[in-house]
Amino acid sequence: QMEPPHVFVVFGASGDLAKKKIYPTLWWLYRDGLLPKVVYFIGYARSDLSIEALVKHFEPNCKVKDGEKEQFTEFVKKCTYVMGAYDKPEGFEKLDSVIAELEQKYNGPANRLYYLALPPNVFAPVTSQIKEHCMAGSGGWTRIIIEKPFGRDTATSAELSNHLASLFHEDQIYRIDHYLGKEMVQNLMVLRFGNRLFGPSWNRDHIASVTISFKEPFGTQGRGGYFDEFGILRDVMQNHLMQILTLVAMEKPASLNAEDIRDEKVKVLKSIRPVRVDDVVLGQYVGDPNGKDEDARQGYLDDPTVPKGSTTATYALAVLNVNNERWDGVPFFLRCGKALNERKAEVRVQFREVPGDIYPSGALKRTELVIRVQPNEAVYIKLMTKRPGMGFDVEETELDLSYNSRYTDVRLPDAYERLILEVFCGSQINFVRTDELDYAWKIFTPLLDQIEKEKIPPIEYVYGSRGPREGDELMQKHGFVFTGTYKWSPPQNN
Ligand code: NAP
Ligand code: NAP
Repeated sequence: QMEPPHVFVVFGASGDLAKKKIYPTLWWLYRDGLLPKVVYFIGYARSDLSIEALVKHFEPNCKVKDGEKEQFTEFVKKCTYVMGAYDKPEGFEKLDSVIAELEQKYNGPANRLYYLALPPNVFAPVTSQIKEHCMAGSGGWTRIIIEKPFGRDTATSAELSNHLASLFHEDQIYRIDHYLGKEMVQNLMVLRFGNRLFGPSWNRDHIASVTISFKEPFGTQGRGGYFDEFGILRDVMQNHLMQILTLVAMEKPASLNAEDIRDEKVKVLKSIRPVRVDDVVLGQYVGDPNGKDEDARQGYLDDPTVPKGSTTATYALAVLNVNNERWDGVPFFLRCGKALNERKAEVRVQFREVPGDIYPSGALKRTELVIRVQPNEAVYIKLMTKRPGMGFDVEETELDLSYNSRYTDVRLPDAYERLILEVFCGSQINFVRTDELDYAWKIFTPLLDQIEKEKIPPIEYVYGSRGPREGDELMQKHGFVFTGTYKWSPPQNN
């Protein structure tokens, strides 16, 4: 019995995502021996490219080390390129015949993975053509991987979902949300369901609020045209932050099976009412005249690719309520923005005050559990301790798990490495199911419609700041407490 061949097809091989992410990821997986034994990579696009030109295009991003040159050459030998249109059968027939040759060589059906590294306007024709011309024969399987944007509201997302559902089964569709490939996002379930410490207090009786943040320290840098069509709510909040929210809020699934987990995530989404305008702060950055570089002096509207007078938000804070027995009344703050003071993605769980406090008024601060997704993965708990030494005073300190000091020999794989490997393995845990996507859109679509219809103006905030003051105010109004008293001293190396 021969090993079945696996064929990974990159549609849009000439593009940015293919060059920056997909090919380098395939190379790393190949290099580390994680892919099936017999594997081929086929690029597909309209551009007239030789395989040399294609490799030249992605090689700089592969970070090939000195000792790996030979293996890289081997990898390149597995790469071919097919030129074709996205909406006509000829190219797809050619693609299928290239795969058929491999099937002949290995005397069996190939397993086929199709990655759509393409702009969304061709998702529909490409998937139709795949279905018509490029499906695996019996004994092999076909899997389709697509990237956001999955529509721009409930209706357009449903249109794409219905189209895909008319061609493929759910277990053939892999919607990537690359946040689900991040180490700390994958760790959320283990922290919650693998520790008796957290389970009993993970509810409205003990938790005062949950804040999920995504902050970027740069603006659109002349590429605002694409962003402007979507805005930060669609680009980050409706997908990445909502995915994290569901993992924080869901009940324990019946098992680690993908459908059990995704069922629980869907239940959370069904318990969240659509976000209202009053529960949102929208911002748009303006240049900082004293900024450290040219980018910092440019506001969003100074980006020549952004339409004049655009009211698209580059910052958003939304307060959501999960209306179930565990969470009713606990605000979930989702917060994301560009051109802020730092790069950071984290989950911050703030616990309630200790009842029946016996310490001097104000001495006890709220316990916080922080899961830092990036940069520098860490889990830490800010808590009270006795001030070391004489006396009985209390002070804030932390229990700290910093990955770069605790796991010094471990290389954390990139999100795309994990996710693409999971597609090869057929594990759908970390991919977005159709109903999940639909419920997530339903939470934001009425808000998006209203913002668009009323042209609600975003609040200006300065490049490099923490965002509009109104954001902090809304969080405070919903009970978030910031004391500013915690002092972090990084561990000393001895
Ligand atoms: P891209 O470079 O603009 O497009 C990929 C390829 O598609 C191009 O090389 C081009 O190939 C073809 N193409 C471009 N415009 C087209 C059009 N109007 N009609 C038909 N074909 C067209 O896109 P990308 O940045 O790689 O992104 C691909 C997908 O990944 C998108 O859905 C994007 O939203 C998503 N994504 C990208 C990134 C990123 O870092 N770039 C990150 C997250 C998600 P040919 O002309 O040779 O056919
Ligand atoms: P903190 O000092 O209590 O919080 C500071 C953060 O609170 C600010 O960065 C700010 O972040 C936010 N904030 C909310 N409302 C604010 C307001 N009105 N004014 C100013 N800031 C407000 O606790 P922390 O952020 O958890 O820890 C402080 C530092 O220690 C951080 O840099 C953290 O990374 C570091 N630390 C690192 C580790 C580790 O590496 N293992 C462990 C513990 C602490 P936003 O702008 O996001 O709102």
